[in-house]
Amino acid sequence: MSNTVHFKKVAIVGVGLIGGSLALDMKLKGLAGTIVGIGRSIANLNIALDLNIVDSITQDIAEGVRGADLVVVAVPVLKVASVIEAAAPYLADGAIVTDVGSVKAELIKEVLPLLPPSVSFVPAHPVAGTENSGAGAAITGLFNGRNCIITPVGKGGPDNPEAVEAVTGLWRALGSNVVIMDALTHDRILSAVSHLPHVIAYTLVNMVANAGKGLGANGSDTDMLGYSAGGFRDFTRIASSSPEMWADICEMNSTAIVEMIEAFESELDSLKRVIKKRDNDSMKAEFNKAKALRDALIKGG
Ligand code: NAP
Repeated sequence: MSNTVHFKKVAIVGVGLIGGSLALDMKLKGLAGTIVGIGRSIANLNIALDLNIVDSITQDIAEGVRGADLVVVAVPVLKVASVIEAAAPYLADGAIVTDVGSVKAELIKEVLPLLPPSVSFVPAHPVAGTENSGAGAAITGLFNGRNCIITPVGKGGPDNPEAVEAVTGLWRALGSNVVIMDALTHDRILSAVSHLPHVIAYTLVNMVANAGKGLGANGSDTDMLGYSAGGFRDFTRIASSSPEMWADICEMNSTAIVEMIEAFESELDSLKRVIKKRDNDSMKAEFNKAKALRDALIKGG
């Protein structure tokens, strides 16, 4: 199945990092007859066309999705439902709609009532990315060797095994390891391993920028960020990610993210107490535990 998946017309709404990288790989592997890019700004769509990421572009969603057998919605998560609502009257019978959003449970709840009964919806989340945005950030091979989590809407929903199989086959053909999971579990896991790190990176950059205020001679400001080196820059790389995308993710997955922030605050508080006590052995024990876990993670690929 993974080698035989092919779509005649693919419509990608949101030709950014993820939508653009998907289009590039689908072209490279011959998985689509033609790919149309649909978007908000003409400037970004023109970049997608110039870079040969898509075959044609339009800002008119009706024109873009008409006759498509696969519609991929790759816009920030809070905009997915409005895109699908606008596209719904023009979707072909039997079309498969899928998304790539980083949050699943609420997104599915918003999308399900909007879909015509003749259309399938297969929610997906390729767990791959960079801190860059827009069509110019699209790269080939982004999804190779990475997980893609599919959260089928299940019984009673507008999905069918063939559509799930087709979307699974698509991601497998791009080299992804497909994992099937329920949406709430997805949102809890991703809140810990992806959403929380972004929240911390944004916070750390702002905190360090603020920490230098009034610290210099005569109460002048010190540019602490200007003294940062490799460690700080590696740690905060993801703070260069799209603010629109991350505000949408934090709003939509608020409950799970707040839970993880509280768990993080509690761990940080214990470490703070150990550091306050200058308890070197406990610090070493904590750092050794984390180092072993991270080393094993990297070794395991
Ligand atoms: P991106 O590079 O900013 O691309 C998003 C694209 O969507 C942009 O081209 C933007 O076009 C377009 N867009 C925004 N709102 C739109 C609307 N209402 N109608 C039509 N087009 C619209 O973002 P991305 O990183 O590809 O993320 C896209 C989705 O993938 C998000 O749902 C995100 O949660 C998910 N995701 C991201 C990552 C990651 O690491 N970046 C990883 C996995 C999944 P304009 O130029 O007009 O703004």
